[in-house]
Amino acid sequence: EAGKIADDVGLNAYVVGGFVRDLILGVENFDIDIVVEGDALMFSEKLAQHYQAHLTKHDRFGTAVVVLEDDFKIDVVTARKEYYEYPASLPVVEGGTIKDDLFRRDFTINSMAIKLNKSGFGNIVDFYGGRRDLQMGLIRILYNLSFVEDPTRIFRAIRFEQRYDFKMEEKTEEFAIKAIESGILGKVSHERINFEFFAMLKENNIWAILKRMEDLRILKNVYPEVVLSEDLKKLLKNAEENLACLKEKVSVQESLDRTLLYLLILYSNMSFEKAVKLSEKMRLSKEYKSEILKFIEANDIILSNLSGNIDISNYDVYNELKGLSMEILFVLCMLSNEKKFIDRVILYINNLKNIKTCVTGKDLKELGVKPGPEYAVLLDKVLAEKLNGNLQTYNDELEFLKK
Ligand code: ATP
Repeated sequence: EAGKIADDVGLNAYVVGGFVRDLILGVENFDIDIVVEGDALMFSEKLAQHYQAHLTKHDRFGTAVVVLEDDFKIDVVTARKEYYEYPASLPVVEGGTIKDDLFRRDFTINSMAIKLNKSGFGNIVDFYGGRRDLQMGLIRILYNLSFVEDPTRIFRAIRFEQRYDFKMEEKTEEFAIKAIESGILGKVSHERINFEFFAMLKENNIWAILKRMEDLRILKNVYPEVVLSEDLKKLLKNAEENLACLKEKVSVQESLDRTLLYLLILYSNMSFEKAVKLSEKMRLSKEYKSEILKFIEANDIILSNLSGNIDISNYDVYNELKGLSMEILFVLCMLSNEKKFIDRVILYINNLKNIKTCVTGKDLKELGVKPGPEYAVLLDKVLAEKLNGNLQTYNDELEFLKK
């Protein structure tokens, strides 16, 4: 249909980039990018009209997004030619052909297009050897200065490498290493680095990605606060396995926030001061920041208080762990190698976390207790008895209160 619309308005239109790559690989991808040789805004209006879809236009950039369903959208841009005035700058843009547009892309595997117009429909446009590299499993830049012009491509190279189990082509890797050694990452804004880093944390193979970042000395350059000590490496390497193991043992419905989980692991051996500094550099949300700092402040104490064979009451376990997110609880288990500790956390998640008293302030009032701070103390006493298994029913709780 898009092809027909393109024919109607007399423009060439192509699907490009990641969608084409994943189509050839047989991987699902719901992000469609269309490039038109000409007025993208006019084309996107017709496209949105045809599908009766929502359209968001960015007039300043001449780009538009047609939203068909929640997770199905089409980005439309005008084919363009880009050049960089100095290393790591943002590019200067002007109109161009599909060939120009594909040449400004990061890697050969992302530089293919499929024609949508009736004449040539379905033809793969591959000027730079994308199909060959897909077959050989290679991430290859299109021109020697690619990483110098846009160093964030180094992060993308690693991400695609690990996602598809590909390798950087030899020269490409050499250019990446040279660019890193020249200190170019220091010229990129924190925002752009963070954007790439958080895209990495969305991938499946986070350990492999971080290891590659470490080996290429990228981590040292962008986040020197993160020190991959042997312990931390082990933690990261085993994270997915431990996670799966824990998930089997606990009855959690909520899905875990993997980004937060890995951030907690990465911050786990950091001092409070360093963590504050890094969380600001990473522009973490207030929620993430407070989770991480809470974790750093408490993890040593919790680990030591809940380890060992001495008897600890359920109430004490509860008090130690209450208010901690599932992500923190999981990472605590990963940090501990004591079965006793892990058992206590699992007991908390499965049996204690959701226990509440049946009696409320209203009952206390009816029993003639004057409203005040004593309410909290009394209710907490009931909760302690209940957690420790001494009270079963509402009546038990009432009787206990009366005493
Ligand atoms: P993903 O599956 O991770 O979304 P993608 O290839 O679709 O991968 P996007 O970030 O959506 O990635 O980018 C879409 C396309 O834009 C890429 O396929 C690539 O051709 C091009 N692109 C993205 N970032 C860059 C960059 N920094 N330099 C050059 N081209 C880029």
